[in-house]
Order: sequence, then structure tokens, then C-alpha cells
Amino acid sequence: MRATVMFGAGDVRIETVPDARLLQPTDAIVAVARAGICGSDLWPYQTMEHSGTGRRMGHEFIGVVKAVGADVRTMKVGDVVIAPFLYSDGTCVFCQEGLHTSCLHGGRYGSDGVDGGQGEAVRVPQADGTLVVLPVGADDALMPSLLTLSDVMATGHHAALAARVGPGKTAAVVGDGAVGLCGVIAARRLGAERIIILGRHPDRIALAKEFGATDVVSERGDEAIQRVRELTDGLGVHSVLECVGLEQSTRTALSIARPGGAVGRVGLPQEEAIPESLPTFFDNVTIAGGPAPARAYIKELLPDVLDGTIEPGRVFDRVVRLDEVPDGYRAMNEREAIKVLIELKTKERRR
Ligand SMILES: [Zn+2]
Repeated sequence: MRATVMFGAGDVRIETVPDARLLQPTDAIVAVARAGICGSDLWPYQTMEHSGTGRRMGHEFIGVVKAVGADVRTMKVGDVVIAPFLYSDGTCVFCQEGLHTSCLHGGRYGSDGVDGGQGEAVRVPQADGTLVVLPVGADDALMPSLLTLSDVMATGHHAALAARVGPGKTAAVVGDGAVGLCGVIAARRLGAERIIILGRHPDRIALAKEFGATDVVSERGDEAIQRVRELTDGLGVHSVLECVGLEQSTRTALSIARPGGAVGRVGLPQEEAIPESLPTFFDNVTIAGGPAPARAYIKELLPDVLDGTIEPGRVFDRVVRLDEVPDGYRAMNEREAIKVLIELKTKERRR
């Protein structure tokens, strides 16, 4: 089969790899119908050292079940399923608490003999605990929005929960990438009265407004902090969704929370230390967040996607075939596209 392999910074290729096949009785084989390129895929795209064997890519995908192991109970061949960005058993102490990202028997795609999602098929470990059967066909018009539940929409929702967004509150979203835009959707969905988006790309800001952002702050650093204070009577906001992970964005996020407020961090931190330790201490600011337990959120968010209440699939502004994935990485890296959807042909899915 064919799959996306990264060999180093800027070097993404479509390679022939061993076919996905059942290894454990708890496995399922999924023929990928749609996959996404994630903002986090861009970190290795910018920094990875050359590797002779390369690294299999992709952790956001929807597909059709092609085979199941003897112990798999919740799905059958032909079912359309969505995969959260990590696999999990669904039964351990952390999964039972809804924190599937800390599953004792879980892991990630693209390493340790597990396929990446940006390819023709994936062996999914712990299929019952990982995959969710969808009540739609593989070519349903809702596919882009459904695909966001594997990562970006779940992550935006996680940021909003960690930031304690609620009715009547003012929220700020730091970052106008796909996760930040989904954070706007999540903040509105949870009842935020006012949503300030911090970003500076006109196309993304326009989408953020359509998703429910009420105010835009395009300044950076101290000027951005000042501007948010002006918008909030000098107090700061109740809830901050940090969707970038860089030092400056984290500093901004922590500096615009009002006393007693909360910051939900979902951008992968690029620094060891958390800035603004003293001011956030004296202001009793809660600092929360981490990787989103997407598996726990899929069922909660699914009805809103199915009935059209939320349309997170609009963050995908480019569609490519598998052969075109290297150009998809380039386009996202150069900010030419917000987020790239990979559409696999039916013929590829049958293999
Ligand atoms: Zn578990």
C-alpha cells in the first residue's frame, strides 16, 4: 500500500509500505477515506533531522473497516469509523475517567509498528476502545466536519473546558490556526457572551467571526495585552484558550486572564518553563490543559456536527489526493492553506 513518509525537514514522500494487516485479536484494519494534515505535523516538517528510514505520518482519519480481530465487538467490516488522534483501550483507570490520552495501553500512530493515518490503510490497535462507528456513508457531505473530531475540534473543545468557558463569560482565543478557530466554535457552543480572537491572518479572522468571534485583536505581545485590557474595562478575560504553544503566545495568554480566570493550554509548549509565574500566582489564575482526550469528546460533539449546529469542517480550505500530500504540507507550512484535507480515492480504499 501507499503511505506518507517524512524523511526530514521539508522532505515528505508517498512511499510503498507493507500492507496493514491484523497482528492482535483487538486490532481492526481501516481503509482510510479522509485524513488531515495537522499543525503539529509541521513541527517535524520544519525541524526533523534526515532519517534513512523515515517516519510514517498522520493521526487524523476516517475510514471503512476492512477486517477485525477475533476479540473486536463494537464494529464490523463495512462500518464507517473515526479514529481519535491516539489509540486507547477504553477500559483502564484513566479511560474510565475520560482521560484517554493517558491510557495505560494506548499509544500513537506512525510508530512502533502502527501505521500513520496519511496512507491507504491503518492497523488500529485496541479497536473497541479507539474507533467510533459513524452513522453516515464514507462519502457523506459532513466528512470534513466529522474528521475534525479526531483532533482539532476536540482540541478546541478541550481548551474551552480547561479555560472554564461558560454562559455570560468573556473568552479570548490566542491563535487563528485550525485549533484556534475550533476554539471559537467551542467557546460559543459553551455559551461565552464575548469571544476575542487574537490573530492577524485576514482569511482566518473572517472565518473566526463567522464562527462567533465578537472582537479581533491583531496586535502582538504587549500591544495585544494592552488591547485586550482596553476591551475588558482593564480587567482581562475570564477564559483564555492558548492554541499556539510558543513562548510569546503563552505569555500573552497568561497576561490577559483576569484575576480568578483560567487558561486552557492546548498548543504544544515549545518551552520548558511556563512564563508569568508570579503575576498568575497573585491573580489566582488557573493554568490547565494538555492533549485533548478526543475519544471522550467525539460522542459529545457528534450530534452537533450531524445536525449542522457546528461546522468545524470549514477550517479545511484545501483538498488533495494522496499523491499531492507533499504539496499539502508545503501549502500549510507557507500559510497558503489553513488546513489540508486528504481525500483517498475509492480504488485506493479497496486495496
Ligand atoms: Zn485506557
